Formats: sequence, C-alpha cells, structure tokens
Amino acid sequence: MNIDMPIHSQSDVVVAGGGPSGLVAAIASARAGAKTTLVEQYGFLGGMATAASVGPFSPFHYDDQQITMGIPQELVERLMAAGGSTGHLKCVPEYGSGSYMAYFDREVYKQVAFEMVQEAGVRLLLHSFVGGTVVEGNRVRGIQVANKSGFLQVLGKVTVDATGDGDVSARGGCQVQWGRQSDNLGQPMTMFFEMANVDTEKLRAYIAAHPEDFEWTSTLHSRTPLPKHLNQHYFVAQGFRKAAAEAMAKGELHLGRDTVLLQSTMREGMIVFNSTRVGKLKGTDVDDFTKAEIEGRKQAMSLAAFAKKYIPGFEHAYVCSTGAQIGVRESRHVIGEHVLTQDDVVEGRRFRDVVARGFFPVDIHSPTSGGGYAGGSTWIKPKAPYDIPMRCLIPKGVDGLVMTGRNISAAHEAHGSLRVQGTVFAIGHGSGVVAATAALTGVEPRHVDIHKVQKTLLAQRANLELEGLALAPAAD
Ligand SMILES: Cc1cc2nc3c(=O)[nH]c(=O)nc-3n(C[C@H](O)[C@H](O)[C@H](O)COP(=O)(O)OP(=O)(O)OC[C@H]3O[C@@H](n4cnc5c(N)ncnc54)[C@H](O)[C@@H]3O)c2cc1C
Repeated sequence: MNIDMPIHSQSDVVVAGGGPSGLVAAIASARAGAKTTLVEQYGFLGGMATAASVGPFSPFHYDDQQITMGIPQELVERLMAAGGSTGHLKCVPEYGSGSYMAYFDREVYKQVAFEMVQEAGVRLLLHSFVGGTVVEGNRVRGIQVANKSGFLQVLGKVTVDATGDGDVSARGGCQVQWGRQSDNLGQPMTMFFEMANVDTEKLRAYIAAHPEDFEWTSTLHSRTPLPKHLNQHYFVAQGFRKAAAEAMAKGELHLGRDTVLLQSTMREGMIVFNSTRVGKLKGTDVDDFTKAEIEGRKQAMSLAAFAKKYIPGFEHAYVCSTGAQIGVRESRHVIGEHVLTQDDVVEGRRFRDVVARGFFPVDIHSPTSGGGYAGGSTWIKPKAPYDIPMRCLIPKGVDGLVMTGRNISAAHEAHGSLRVQGTVFAIGHGSGVVAATAALTGVEPRHVDIHKVQKTLLAQRANLELEGLALAPAAD
C-alpha cells in the first residue's frame, strides 16, 4: 500500500468503472444500504454505450421471455419516460442481432444514469483514472486514482472491478487470462460512427430489393405504437458485399471486415455503423490502444466515403459522430472460483449460487479474419437461459474484491455470450448486492451468505428463477 498517497474517501463499497455493470452495481449496492462510491475516468457514465457509441441494448430476452429485470429494466423504463428509448423491440429474424433490441439516445442515457445513481445516494468521482490497486497481503483495500486533484486513494471494505478490462484485478494480483486460450487473441475492437442526413427510405428499399447482397438483415417491431417524435422504422443489415468487394479490390475501401454492418438509430435520417474491425491488438496495452484508435478512425472515414459513393441513400450524408474511444469487446478474463464455459452457456446450466442469468448467443467476431458468421465468426444460441454463479465474480486467492461485467471469470466463448449489455447489466446488479452484503456483514465476498444475496436481489426485482432451480438439475 502506498502510504504517501492522500486518502480521498473510505466507503463500504468502491465501484471502479461506470459502464453498464458498474453503474447498476453502484445503484444496487447503495440501495442495499452500503455507503458506495463510483469512480469513472470520463465525465459521464454508460461505458461502451456512451464512450464508444455502442448500441442498441442487446435483448433482455430469451426468445419472447424477458430474463433481465430489476434495476436494468427500471433504467430502460426511465429512459423511455425521458423520451430516450424505444423500449424492447422484437427483432425478426433474430439471427445476428438477438431476439429483441432496445434503442436509446446516448445523451438522455448520460443524464438518466446520473439521476439514478444520485437518487440511490452513490458518491460519484468522475474524471478519475484508476491506475493502481491498494493491496494489503492478499486483500484489496481500494484503488489509486489520478485526477485533477492529484494522486489519491479511494478506499473501501469491498472493491468492485467494473473497468471491463479487469484493471483493478490485474493490479491487485489476480490471475488473468487474456482473450482465447489457444493464442490469447480477443475479439477485435471497433470504432463506431454515425452518419446523418441519410435517405433511409431509399436505403431500406435497396436492402429489401437485394437480399442476395446481404449476409443477414432484420427489422424491429414495437408491440405498442412508438411516440411520434421518435424514428418509426428500425432495421439492421450486414452486407453490401458486392460494392464492398469491388471497392476493396480497387483500393478505395480500407476496412477490417468484408461486409458493412449498419443499422437505424432513434433519429430519422441517422445511421450507425458497427463495421470497422481492428484485430490482434490489446486494449490494455497503451501502445496497442493508440494504434487501434488511429486505425479505427482511418477505417471509419474510409467507410463513410465509400457509403457516400456506393450505398443508396447516403449521397448527401455526413459523419456526425464517432466514439470518444474505440470500442473494446474483450480483454482480460479474471480467473475466479468458477470459470464459466461454453458448455455452461450453451447447455443452459443452472447453479445454486446464481446471481444473474445469461441467454444471448455466443457471438464472437473473429479475432483473426474479416469474415461474418459464414466466414470465421461464431453465433451459437444457448438451449435455454443459463445461470451466472456468484463464484464467477469472486477472484481466486484475492479477498476484498468482486468482479463484474465483461471481465468476470469466463472462457472466451462464454464471454462471447455474457458480454452484451442486457446481461452485463444483470451481472452488475448481482455484483453490487454481493459487495454490499459482504461489506455490511463484515465477511469476505467469497464467504457471503448467498441466501441473503439472493433475497436482496429478489427484493430489488432481479429475476433469478429460484423456483425453477429447485426443480432443475443444478451443476452445484
Ligand atoms: C464494438 C462493440 C460493439 C458492441 N455491440 C453491442 C450491442 O450492439 N449491444 C450490446 O448490448 N452490447 C454490445 N457490445 C458489448 C457491450 O457494449 C459491452 O460488453 C459492455 O458495455 C460491457 O460493460 P462493462 O460495464 O463490463 O464494461 P464497459 O462498458 O467497458 O465499461 C467500463 C467502464 O469503466 C471505465 N473504466 C475503464 N477502465 C478504467 C480505469 N482504469 N479507470 C477509470 N475508469 C475506467 C470506462 O470508462 C467505462 O465507463 C459491444 C461492444 C463493443 C466494444
């Protein structure tokens, strides 16, 4: 522990990272009665969704059954009430997108997230980069941050690693696995960007008339009429194969994948591209991360020029936003008491210490090729929703620490399913309650009373399907 560094604060629970898992963890922890501090490097919350323009929210559903509930569902409802979300739209067909998607407005999300954490009584510490972990023996005591006030220690009885990249865990001495087992490569990074002034009717007409030019396309449907001020037409399309291949052959298009993936947004005339692909670099290595930002922007601008020239409807469009950072899909997996496997996910395994439930297909953008699902990427739908046991949140051999979000203990393949927001929100809910329960009862997170955790989660309206668990064969 660095005793020279001034102490900023001491809380029951310190959450490092304000992405979907961190912000829900902080709200859940504070609502469970723990004095909670949430630390974030940017001046807003939301993680990849707001910092890297990633969206929409993946399903909260398996088929038509809603699995993710509780605080994450409350967030969607708050966004809808503020005019900042479509709510859950049904995706037809679900291949390549998931069964539902909820579109949101980034700026409304930033505001609603602030409101919800503040209403819960969470202390926010923004513009604070976590550069170190305060460790005593094998126990994490908090984090070290750098911000405008200098270098400070933010201490807590329990720390939650919600950095997505396992920054706190790695510096706290936890064992980590980078990317996939065979070669340590993770899913590629993507620089999202949006184009405005698109003739979306013309674009949709082209997509409808040329199915042979697409790997897949889906349209999205609301059960109830959407508010009039919102865009009324939602779709996603992956393809434009012919024009992309020709432009690449002529050296006119510089892109890390062989197709273009684009979709509608909440704003009429605005389209978002999830199409650049930067592979084989690590978001946890500053030189790699720098290269990825430069390459991501180069691909984005090349694709925008291509769209204007070759994609019907983009003739008068312009780039109106890019992410503040390139989106990082995968990095460190912290090794915990249980490592979630592809089998756990695909077989829909149940665990008695369930704290969240997953359901999204194993969705892996190839770490090495530019191909879609027919060309090296993976899409495997689980046979049923699966459980995420508390043991996946507890690092092996290190106390005082709870993991959450995409850096929990999971194999590359299982991470391919749980990484989406509909699930990391739920994991955040579970982690926040585990951390608060440990801090308030004075036990290590690994020894926390799981029944107490599950009871609090149910009281906070999380969906654990415990009745079903009593009937189903549970793994342990
Ligand atoms: C390109 C791309 C496309 C995706 N598409 C979709 C999609 O369509 N739908 C969907 O639902 N999901 C999608 N995802 C997945 C989803 O966005 C992420 O997996 C999810 O955001 C992970 O949540 P998290 O809270 O674990 O981490 P993150 O969202 O990564 O949040 C981590 C937070 O911690 C902060 N942080 C990190 N390190 C530090 C530090 N050292 N100090 C201080 N703060 C720090 C970050 O600023 C951030 O706010 C996509 C992801 C990417 C990258």
